[in-house]
Amino acid sequence: MKEIKHFINGAFVGSASGRTFEDINPANGQVIGQVHEAGRVEVDTAVKAARAALKGPWGKMSVAERAEILHRVADGITARFDEFLEAECLDTGKPKSLASHIDIPRGAANFKVFADLLKNVANEAFEMATPDGAGALNYGVRRPKGVIGVISPWNLPLLLMTWKVGPALACGNCVVVKPSEETPLTATLLGEVMQAAGVPAGVYNVVHGFGGDSAGAFLTEHPDVDAYTFTGETGTGETIMRAAAKGVRQVSLELGGKNAGIVFADCDMDKAIEGTLRSAFANCGQVCLGTERVYVERPIFDEFVARLKAGAEALVIGPPDDASSNFGPLVSLKHREKVLSYYQQALDDGATVVTGGSVPDMPAHLAGGAWVQPTIWTGLTDDSAVVTEEIFGPCCHIRPFDTEEEAIELANSLPYGLASAIWTENSSRAHRVAGQIEAGIVWVNSWFLRDLRTAFGGSKQSGIGREGGVHSLEFYTELKNICVKL
Ligand code: NDP
Repeated sequence: MKEIKHFINGAFVGSASGRTFEDINPANGQVIGQVHEAGRVEVDTAVKAARAALKGPWGKMSVAERAEILHRVADGITARFDEFLEAECLDTGKPKSLASHIDIPRGAANFKVFADLLKNVANEAFEMATPDGAGALNYGVRRPKGVIGVISPWNLPLLLMTWKVGPALACGNCVVVKPSEETPLTATLLGEVMQAAGVPAGVYNVVHGFGGDSAGAFLTEHPDVDAYTFTGETGTGETIMRAAAKGVRQVSLELGGKNAGIVFADCDMDKAIEGTLRSAFANCGQVCLGTERVYVERPIFDEFVARLKAGAEALVIGPPDDASSNFGPLVSLKHREKVLSYYQQALDDGATVVTGGSVPDMPAHLAGGAWVQPTIWTGLTDDSAVVTEEIFGPCCHIRPFDTEEEAIELANSLPYGLASAIWTENSSRAHRVAGQIEAGIVWVNSWFLRDLRTAFGGSKQSGIGREGGVHSLEFYTELKNICVKL
């Protein structure tokens, strides 16, 4: 049985209260380990350690020195690839085939990309005329924002956490991370890698626990944290924003979505099916960018539904170690309850169940896992909760449309605005439609294709701010103007 401790000021420590909670393997329902639950004491110690480290060597290091250390962090993750893979798959149940391509390599890449980026970013400079004719020179310098609270979700635990920690550290900040209570392992393991890479004590801290009235809330209420970066549900984002308002702390929020896929009759059907299968069912549908609403132009509607059904039914449901499996369980039985409540809602609202709709039969040793069938519906009205609310499960509703204008209106009809995917071989249409979709990211003939130098974030209720590339600097640094009268 593992004992999962906090990582504070360069050391693994338990909770003063002795309180722990269980970390459960969602593939079989078995307990992986006992996780220490942080109280205000541990959160406060972690914040103090981060503040002290900021004043120590980390805050004074050159960008190049920090970059070298962060490269060692990335290399350290790669060197212990199998351990990270095992930990991530134990916590999430996701297929190793998926996590070995996405979660772990991208988690490592997040340290190198931002460390390198920082080395090459220029700041602005303006010469200015003054009445005495001597002039003045303005130039910008960037300084770390300070202590950053990082609150991350369970769907891509290492990837989404390092997506924040990588740029935060590259910019010279120190962090206190609160991973989801469902997925504490990789954030903890990263503490060992940080130590081995020579990251000074206090720069990277991890406190475990729950959200409300626990570590998450204690962190967001802590007065000595300068800014918060959060990925998770829109409602939690609102709570964090309220907490951060005290003391006027900045927030970067990457929140929920109810993303639309738009499939035009002039699409390449093979590409559209392959892409929509991934966007609806990858990671058991637990991807914020995933497609839960699919709009298909009427002439190809029946063919599209039939082919997506065939694709969904060909997915191989199984545990992480099964090399043939490409479809794992949901993250927890609690989350399955939520997803199944929408499956029931779809029936109550009169949906046609094209495929799935319930829990698959699993062998006895996996029966305690959070398994659910990939599910496709048609026939719901646009106001059904199944079509308007984020389910975060392996499911989508498909609806026909007749005109481009109608498709755009449908895609934009909800308060969310995270991502969208358009499938068409007509490039004028692709640009025209992409420009009108209200979302932070629009893919044309692809999905989940990410260049880390580009802006990432949601519009409307899907988030505030952009991270990625130089956009991360806006959040993780203070841009200061120095004005010199000559
Ligand atoms: P939650 O909002 O439930 O939780 C996210 C994190 O916030 C967890 O660590 C959670 O802790 C913590 N938390 C919860 N309540 C509070 C609180 N009151 N104060 C401080 N921290 C709190 O999201 P999920 O973990 O369920 O993740 C799924 C959600 O994330 C989906 O809505 C999805 O769309 C979104 N998401 C968005 C992405 C984006 O880039 N826009 C990317 C990936 C996911 P604990 O788990 O312990 O309760």
